[in-house]
Amino acid sequence: MIVLASVVAACTGSTSGPTTTTEATTTIAQPPTTASPPTTASPPTTRPASPDETLTSIGDPFYPALGNGGYDVTRYDIELTLLDDGTIVGFTTVTAVATADLDRFSLDFGSTSATPDDQPTVDAVRVDGVDAGWDHDGEELVVTPPAALTAGASFVTEVEYSPVASAAESRALPVAVGWYEGPSGVRYVVAEPDGAHRWFPSNDHPSDKATFSISVTVPAGTIAAANGSLVDQIDDIGTTTFVWEEDDPMATYLATVVVSDRYAVVRDEAAWAATGIDVRHILPDDMADDPPIALDRTAEMIGVLSDLFGPYPFDEYGVAFVDGFGAALENQTLSLFDTELADAPILELVLIHELAHQWFGDSLTPRWWEDIWLNEGFATFAELLWIEHEGGETAYRDEIRRRIGQARSSGLGPPGSPSPSNLFAGGVYQRGALTLVALRDEVGDDVFFEILRAYTARYAYGNVTTADFVAVAEELSDRDLSVLFDTWLYDDQIPG
Ligand SMILES: [Zn+2]
Repeated sequence: MIVLASVVAACTGSTSGPTTTTEATTTIAQPPTTASPPTTASPPTTRPASPDETLTSIGDPFYPALGNGGYDVTRYDIELTLLDDGTIVGFTTVTAVATADLDRFSLDFGSTSATPDDQPTVDAVRVDGVDAGWDHDGEELVVTPPAALTAGASFVTEVEYSPVASAAESRALPVAVGWYEGPSGVRYVVAEPDGAHRWFPSNDHPSDKATFSISVTVPAGTIAAANGSLVDQIDDIGTTTFVWEEDDPMATYLATVVVSDRYAVVRDEAAWAATGIDVRHILPDDMADDPPIALDRTAEMIGVLSDLFGPYPFDEYGVAFVDGFGAALENQTLSLFDTELADAPILELVLIHELAHQWFGDSLTPRWWEDIWLNEGFATFAELLWIEHEGGETAYRDEIRRRIGQARSSGLGPPGSPSPSNLFAGGVYQRGALTLVALRDEVGDDVFFEILRAYTARYAYGNVTTADFVAVAEELSDRDLSVLFDTWLYDDQIPG
């Protein structure tokens, strides 16, 4: 994710060097640095264990209300219908495996911050086809199946609900998450980190990834796009149903939908020929006629990053331009970009940033939100790699010097210990990237890129912690890197 306020500020300022992506430190206050930074690169965190806690918590130390214990979701089938009055009604089927004997279980759904009128109403819940009991309170939908579930058993939960609520403020940053409606009328989902359960009942935590089918029925003439591939388009009297399938595991926060009657799907046939990746962009009609020039470099960007990081992890890629968002977000196979970025000089670097997230964040997803630097530090580092690709080592070194100076003068905090109320702090981005610069300098290019490729291969489509990355780096370099990671990730001061 990149929040736009600071990007626009950077682009309109009288900068002499290349403009860079920076997090919204001007609009989001820096968190106080932690009083006692961890002394190891893998801070152990106590996870809750009691049955009451695991019912409604998967144990995330930052956001204990997100996720639930007792089961592992394997698939979501989400069916939405856009009614003529603009209301969206939903029907979600959750296929899961019980990891414990369960006489009840919880799904995250709804919002505590929404007004009562903006809270979805649950109309029916069934487990394995039989009506189940439920209690919907705030963000938790506690389901009592008609018969207890046995550990190891697969079970299917169906939830009917209406309406799908609009976006509400996140607990992690002062940005709304959930369903947006832009000034142009385009409707879309922005969910990182805690907005997925505002629009579909889920185990809303990045550690429980699943495959997805997202089916959207809209009035004829409107299009609906989502993650993955369009596998079916069904025209009926006055409506069209678009069925999208993401068959690689995906975290809930990366699921998205874009709906508009003034949009087009634009296929990049040349990118398909060059990469074998189905590159399709979802663009407003006027932009579809004249797409931003930087989009023409998508295939080249996929090639450059694949050489450095290992094979592109998914079958599709593309971006959707939407208005009223104020950010860019790396939804799996379909990144969202605010239309303000279309003409901004910064667009190329933001495209690289969100594309890099397809490896770091989407394929390799943090197990716990506290390790968000594994997303943002790596995606920001990719910007530096693109600058090096374009301008050589001198440009790379100049940009690093500039960013270190900026990080020092802004007092950016350590990337390994952000605040739960300001998860996307500037330090997570810029100092996270500088951690990788320091590692590259320490081990040399050959070993460094071996580390990145081994890391992306070993944990593809799974979850990662900081300790996982440190272990791969130490193994491949055959060095003790604890001092490097401890100082770069957790020291208040920027090393050097
Ligand atoms: Zn990002």
